[in-house]
Amino acid sequence: MSSEKKQLKGFGSTAIHAGHETEANYSHLTPIYASSTYVFNTAEQGMRRFSGDEEGYIYSRWGNPSMKEPEDKIAALESFGIIENGKPLQLKARMHASGMAAISTLMLGNLKSGDKILSHYSLYGGTQELMNRVLPELGIEAIIVDLRNLNKAEETLKNDAKIKLLYLETPANPTIQCVDIDALTKLAKQKGLIVAVDNTFATPYLQQPFKYGVDFVVHSTTKFLNGHGTAIGGALVGKDIEYMNGRMEKVHRLLGGNSNSFDAFLLTQGMKTLEVRMEKHCANAMKVAQFLEKNAAISKVNYLGLPSHPDYATAQKQMRHPGPMLSFEMKGGLEAGKKFIDKLQMCVRAVSLGTTDTLLSHPASMTHYGVPKADREKYGITDGLIRMSVGIEDVEDILSDLEQAAS
Ligand SMILES: *Cc1c(COP(=O)(O)O)cnc(C)c1O
Repeated sequence: MSSEKKQLKGFGSTAIHAGHETEANYSHLTPIYASSTYVFNTAEQGMRRFSGDEEGYIYSRWGNPSMKEPEDKIAALESFGIIENGKPLQLKARMHASGMAAISTLMLGNLKSGDKILSHYSLYGGTQELMNRVLPELGIEAIIVDLRNLNKAEETLKNDAKIKLLYLETPANPTIQCVDIDALTKLAKQKGLIVAVDNTFATPYLQQPFKYGVDFVVHSTTKFLNGHGTAIGGALVGKDIEYMNGRMEKVHRLLGGNSNSFDAFLLTQGMKTLEVRMEKHCANAMKVAQFLEKNAAISKVNYLGLPSHPDYATAQKQMRHPGPMLSFEMKGGLEAGKKFIDKLQMCVRAVSLGTTDTLLSHPASMTHYGVPKADREKYGITDGLIRMSVGIEDVEDILSDLEQAAS
């Protein structure tokens, strides 16, 4: 069932119960459906299922009960509490094998040769590469500007009638920049553009882009939605249900980027604790940011909860809390950054984000190792920059590990 089934009062209860359907054998949790295909009693029934006259599963590339549960949960959370035209907003979500698969379905399902995308310069690396290396060969070009400058965004939209999609990611890697979803969506809608937001960093608990009239939200469910680092996954969420069930469903099925039952099961369980995890992640992150700001070895802290962050006001406007992600610069540059990372004892040296454990990475020696220094510095990725996904350990343990590593 979509978000229309149960309207619970709280976000936390919705995260736990939405999407769950009573099982044939009364199992409490929806089992991991390890079956590629589904049986018809008669040819007639097969026909009804194919024509859509009868609900029922056909083939797992098209979905199954293990995948339907997290889909309906995500739809319920992204629409939670949003009233549109006097009615609770209805959304449709489709699980994908990864965040990149969901983004690919979004792009290939909505754009054709000659169309252009308008986006901000601080994007997830994979999305940036998709726009730089894959889409141009199909005749789809991305225009990348600083979308925090609304005049610039308006001017770009005015001068290029080929722009069809506004693609936002906020907050974004690794300097935790934020763009104004409301203001940019208003500009884009004046021109009839499609608007999509990557809501991975915030999750629907901290930010709900559909409040501002966007058309699509994409997620890497790999991160905070799963929350435990146990599976790769993605979701494409849309508000035009007919379009989601029609064109987008077709593209999703034919590109084949669906999820699988095991990963979907893990995601379902992870999402049940989204609210309590996000509360703790964010409370810890604020304490970590304040601690790092006072550390003598650190020159700069990028955290949306600090008034020193240039996008502080935007974050205050559209996010419940400033989030679990931050980055900071070591005064000693590359060597200091590497040394700091190597000295960590409890916190984990790894890319990715959104796990219960605190994860730290050093872009200059890891994710951005291959990017020329001058290029990465343009995006604020300096030699000594460390990115941190603050976990839900006891904050004292996080702080003491950071302190000894910085000394
Ligand atoms: C990780 C990530 C992606 C890509 O997701 P995968 O699940 O790794 O394919 C997209 N956007 C953001 C913001 C991410 O952090």
